[in-house]
Amino acid sequence: MLALLAHLWLQAAHLPELREVPTTRPVIALTVNVVWGSEYVQPIVAALKAQGAHATFFLGGQWAEKHPDLARMLRQEGMEIGSHGDGHRHVGSLGVADNVREIAVADEKIARATGVHPTLYAPAYGELSPAVFEAAKQEGVRVVMWSIDTIDWRTWHTPDIIKSRVLARLKPGAIVLMHPTDRTAAALPGLLKELKARGYQVVGVQELLRSAGRQAPAGEQGGMSRHRTIA
Ligand SMILES: [Zn+2]
Repeated sequence: MLALLAHLWLQAAHLPELREVPTTRPVIALTVNVVWGSEYVQPIVAALKAQGAHATFFLGGQWAEKHPDLARMLRQEGMEIGSHGDGHRHVGSLGVADNVREIAVADEKIARATGVHPTLYAPAYGELSPAVFEAAKQEGVRVVMWSIDTIDWRTWHTPDIIKSRVLARLKPGAIVLMHPTDRTAAALPGLLKELKARGYQVVGVQELLRSAGRQAPAGEQGGMSRHRTIA
């Protein structure tokens, strides 16, 4: 109980994690967490560009260090750059100092590759804890989660499943979680066309916030991630 109260208090003292953005405009954000699947990054960007869509790519620091050319290409193609931490560690079990290190080291490496210091942070595995929030606050980054999980890392999730998971949960201000996989690259052209047909604009998270006219939305669902996933 005390732990729960401490958790609630710490969350109240920080900006809550962003899971969706309240808006009535038909705009959603795509997020792509990148620590593997490098070969599918370019096809995903091509699919986005073909439909005039954008996304936030949350890069692992170690990934950006290893693939500076791909990281730079994302920036040059007008994609938003966020941070997925440095080494994809289970940040929910780390203390504040280690969480700060995950964010700070990733910031250095991502900035070296792209010139961007990310202000949005997607914790590895979607793990949240008071230490994660405290570190994010100290490092001046906003924690971003999602409202629609494509679970596209499951090898049996076909492009059709990925597409229907998004369309079934579609609503203004939604944030969609994706990864660079062959299924996601294959799902995107059809999905983006369908979203356009339904009048939806597809952007990155920062653009979604701007579009909704709010820099620091409050009132998202709080609390711990309710299900484990490979975020
Ligand atoms: Zn991840």
